[in-house]
Amino acid sequence: MHDTLALLRVSYHSARALSSRRIVFPLFSLSRFSPPILDKARARCYHTSHQGKGVLTDSLALLFGGDPMLTPNLSYANLKESYLFRRIAQKTEAYLAAHPGTHLYRMGIGDVSLPLVPAVIEALHRAVEDQSRQSSFHGYMPECGAPFLREAVAEHYRRRGVMLAADEVFVSSGASDELGDLLDLFDRKNRALIMEPAYPAYVDANIMAGREIIHLSSGPDNHFLPLPNETTDADLVYLCSPNNPTGAAYDREQLTRWVQWANEHQALILFDAAYEAFIEEDLPHSIFEIPGASTCAIEICSLSKTAGFTGTRLGYTVISKDLERCGLSLNAMWVRNRTTKTNGISYILQRGGAAVFTEEGQRQVHDNIRVYKENARVLMKALDEAGIRYWGGRNAPYIWMQCPDGMGSWAFFDRLLNEIQVVGTPGEGFGACGVDFFRFSTFGDPADTREAAGRLKSLLKKTE
Ligand code: PLP
Repeated sequence: MHDTLALLRVSYHSARALSSRRIVFPLFSLSRFSPPILDKARARCYHTSHQGKGVLTDSLALLFGGDPMLTPNLSYANLKESYLFRRIAQKTEAYLAAHPGTHLYRMGIGDVSLPLVPAVIEALHRAVEDQSRQSSFHGYMPECGAPFLREAVAEHYRRRGVMLAADEVFVSSGASDELGDLLDLFDRKNRALIMEPAYPAYVDANIMAGREIIHLSSGPDNHFLPLPNETTDADLVYLCSPNNPTGAAYDREQLTRWVQWANEHQALILFDAAYEAFIEEDLPHSIFEIPGASTCAIEICSLSKTAGFTGTRLGYTVISKDLERCGLSLNAMWVRNRTTKTNGISYILQRGGAAVFTEEGQRQVHDNIRVYKENARVLMKALDEAGIRYWGGRNAPYIWMQCPDGMGSWAFFDRLLNEIQVVGTPGEGFGACGVDFFRFSTFGDPADTREAAGRLKSLLKKTE
């Protein structure tokens, strides 16, 4: 053993002296050493290289067949290439290169197009002024959120009949960030059930965490609203209602089935309510409207689509103090997580967010939502007139249509782009069961949406 390390040291110093890594290889023969000795030698080699003497690192690692320095999270190798939006961009760029100056009608975007409302802008300005004065300046903010915003959100829920305490609300920098971070709370052995078609981040975040995924497909038969049955078996369940991409939204009875199932199985529902503000029918905006949800669900919300915060970044998460597993409070665990891993959200943003929950803020954000809803109405009318089957549009900013003539979603994408210069999103990008469907977003420019709807109707009628 000593000999081995001595030999390594010799070769190390020789290599350093010659400033060449090639010298290492002839210096010893691996076959002379037994595996335990080689392991020890390898550890020694890494130790040496950690001290900054890096000349040998690569060569020795190669020689011993090990990884240099550290083992990355190998679960990343299981991620599928996320090619949906890249492929859309490539196809549209190729089209524009071949048809310079053509205007494209972009009905695929998931981003908002209207600016922040005046109530939010004024609150942001006032908060900037606060930061300019010693008397009103704020440094680090409380990690779980400013009391004024946590209380404003809790009051917003109470107005809808959901009794929440302010410390059950956690302010976040957006739903995406939170959907990834929350996974810290769960053991990697838990199996995640994901209703599909789905927002792609659910699948990828769980693959990164090395978790087994159970795909719960949905389709026209269940109106894209799958329910649990006697065979449903999982620990974490992702429900998104209203749904991206299908626009389908669960009613009370359906959500009650999920809540009962989760409580019976001690499973936990991650309820993504990013689009609740778009609900116009008598449907639950929050899973906490369902009795029993406080002991089996976490709700993840966002101001991105509700109030145009996609670029400003703000959201909130609700974890009831009733939610426990294995004797641990999930609310207390999340407090511990946030106080360890974050230093809170900026005071300025939180003041802007609080303005959304004022009476005036609510009126203004709903005025914006009405613009998107008018886009939805125009698109739905075109599809109705063309006799096309679709879902969503009423309670969500997405319309999910069946591709005509048994066409696959990419073939339909090409047809729309080439024949009517409309760009949408192929359903295949949201899971295998989306292959025959196509998503339109209603966040686009109203004039463009009207033109696109007219072109779409003519094309689809021609196809009949
Ligand atoms: N959840 C769903 C279903 C979404 O569609 C999106 C964004 O498109 C998000 C979460 C992310 O929202 P945020 O902008 O708050 O990260």
